[in-house]
Amino acid sequence: MLIAGNWKMNKGKIDEAVALARDVRIGAYNLKGKVDIMVAPPFTVLSHVVDTLKGSRVKVGAQNMFYEDAGAYTGEISPDFLLDLGVEYVILGHSERRKFFHETDETVLQKALKAREKGLKYIVCVGETLEQRERGEAKDVVGRQVKAILDGGAYSENLIFAYEPVWAIGTGKVATPELAQEMHGFIRELLGENRDTLILYGGSVKPENAEGLLRMDDIDGALVGGASLNAESFVKIIKIAEECV
Ligand code: PEP
Repeated sequence: MLIAGNWKMNKGKIDEAVALARDVRIGAYNLKGKVDIMVAPPFTVLSHVVDTLKGSRVKVGAQNMFYEDAGAYTGEISPDFLLDLGVEYVILGHSERRKFFHETDETVLQKALKAREKGLKYIVCVGETLEQRERGEAKDVVGRQVKAILDGGAYSENLIFAYEPVWAIGTGKVATPELAQEMHGFIRELLGENRDTLILYGGSVKPENAEGLLRMDDIDGALVGGASLNAESFVKIIKIAEECV
């Protein structure tokens, strides 16, 4: 299992980032070690968070990266810069990036191919909007997003999928465990011989709803937004995950 925290554009001031990372580190100290843990802070505090978590079980991820190594790409971040800092994970194709920054299946694939080449662990986010679900298109949309990665040759042992129904992100509306399981089972089938790939659930995961989700057969962890901004609730989710392994 993997429990990953996506801080989004929060906790980007050095003091608050270091304090949160330190509290997660302290909270994770007494855990049983059955679950992998990752936090993804904003770029500008990555090096501080890497330093704060050095030698602990908590790994660090970036929330995005570009698919070229270097060059005239103003404002972009190379995977080499992330590796140089000691970053091990990267989140790709989050629905907020697809929505606000017009990322497409094609650009997410380019990024996944680059992360694969560089040996980063890459979490590819997939998920349908409310309108798509209401039109009965959830599996078509998620199937297309997953196949773009698999048919594009971006599978590797470092690939992780996160099923994040867009209507459940930051809204407090969590998918029922049964609905999430159905979608995870569907993604698992698409993975075929690579069915051991981790599939995380994301969308308003909190200590109160984590157990029902994490006990489902095909849910291998969680990508946590809001609840990862508080060390106590994030560590509680990790503890619940340890009971569900
Ligand atoms: C996310 O950022 O991927 C997410 C699932 O956010 P939240 O937990 O706040 O819904």
